[in-house]
Amino acid sequence: MNCLLFGPPGAGKGTQSAVLVRDLGMAHLSTGDMFRNAIRSGTKWGIEAKAYMDAGALVPDEVVIGLVSEALDSLNGRQFVLDGFPRTLAQAKALEGLLEDKGLSMGPVVFLDVPDDILEGRLTGRRVCSRCGAVSHVDSSPTRVEGVCDVCGGPTVQRSDDRLEVVRQRLVAYRESTLPLRDYYLKAGRLVAVDGAAPMDVISRQVREIVSKGA
Ligand code: AMP
Repeated sequence: MNCLLFGPPGAGKGTQSAVLVRDLGMAHLSTGDMFRNAIRSGTKWGIEAKAYMDAGALVPDEVVIGLVSEALDSLNGRQFVLDGFPRTLAQAKALEGLLEDKGLSMGPVVFLDVPDDILEGRLTGRRVCSRCGAVSHVDSSPTRVEGVCDVCGGPTVQRSDDRLEVVRQRLVAYRESTLPLRDYYLKAGRLVAVDGAAPMDVISRQVREIVSKGA
């Protein structure tokens, strides 16, 4: 069942998406990853998005919606998990139009609920391997050798938008623009909340069950 993972930056959307990809064979549609790939390839969208991302701001709706529309066209029938989209009410409404136009349906909206006070530490301590993308954390899941990826031996780095001043801005943008979607999906009877501060395997089991059942 197609699904949407929703929650603040640092809630674990990427981590749980990876579990759904691994266990249920779903396609992972992460708008953040799409922008980071576009930045690496130096495309027009990448250059446009980078300034917003480095400021902790949201990329304009029309750019994001265009990217998601293209991604939905390239699924070849695979079920998908949306990660980091929609982030505004306008994006949520646009998504409904896109799904209808493309004859696709959407299952549960999984809300990863994490208290504010642990988000900052999760984000600023996160490190990403610049070669294979594996994610570690300086306190909760450090690499065996500092700065060296356990998976491939590549260098681990901090995402430029995981610096404290940008993280604070991202959390402001989340509260202002994205949090209202929680009520939107709650009223629509689509929201299923999961305790995103629980142990990783507990969260993964719950998310997998919700997505497999479709509710
Ligand atoms: P993420 O990897 O999901 O944390 O996204 C990183 C950054 O990409 C965000 O802070 C935004 O600047 C941008 N971004 C990702 N998805 C969206 C979206 N749906 N709408 C606007 N900006 C986005």
